[in-house]
Amino acid sequence: MKLILLGPPGAGKGTQAKRIEEALNIVQLSTGDMLRDEVASGSETGKKAKDLMESGNLVPDDMIIGMISSRIDRDDCKNGFILDGFPRTGPQAKALDELFAEKGMTLRYVIEIVADDEAMVERITGRYTCDECGSGYHDKFQQPKVDGVCDKCGSTAFSRRADDNAETVRARLKAYHEQTEPISSYYSEKGILRKVDGMAGINDVTAEINDIVRS
Ligand code: AMP
Repeated sequence: MKLILLGPPGAGKGTQAKRIEEALNIVQLSTGDMLRDEVASGSETGKKAKDLMESGNLVPDDMIIGMISSRIDRDDCKNGFILDGFPRTGPQAKALDELFAEKGMTLRYVIEIVADDEAMVERITGRYTCDECGSGYHDKFQQPKVDGVCDKCGSTAFSRRADDNAETVRARLKAYHEQTEPISSYYSEKGILRKVDGMAGINDVTAEINDIVRS
């Protein structure tokens, strides 16, 4: 099964994608994670993407389309995949249609997680992850049981994303409304868009998504 998760930054696309990945045995493809790996490795792509990401702007379409095109050819995508953070612009959505047509693939659903901007700013600016195991925490909504110690692996090292500050979050939301939101109607016209309420609790959102992907 091939799915897209749409939604503003902080809506919970990554969290839900990981749950779908386990439930359906398909792979999560996050273009944001791919780009952060490129930045960390110091590659040419990473050097080009770094400043754009840190200012909350989108990286060029051709860079991302090339990355996704080669990624979906890999063996671990044979059973299906969830696109998290891609497509994010009209040209990316059209390029994805062309890639799917070339590769004989079918897009089953586009699931849009709908959420309020102000709540997203609060969610994103408070979030951080364990450096060892990647578990996610939040200053207000999900603190570790013992202050400064990861519940899952006991590590005391945590990080925040460079772009998870209030100013950059506002720029990312602006990019979302201007460039990404319009592609929701593109998929609605194709009859494959489903919306879920991203302001609900994490488990309720998962339940709604499960109902969609199992229908
Ligand atoms: P994310 O982890 O999805 O929030 O993405 C982090 C940042 O990576 C975004 O703010 C963009 O700068 C960049 N990025 C990720 N995916 C895309 C995409 N599909 N198109 C353009 N830029 C992207």
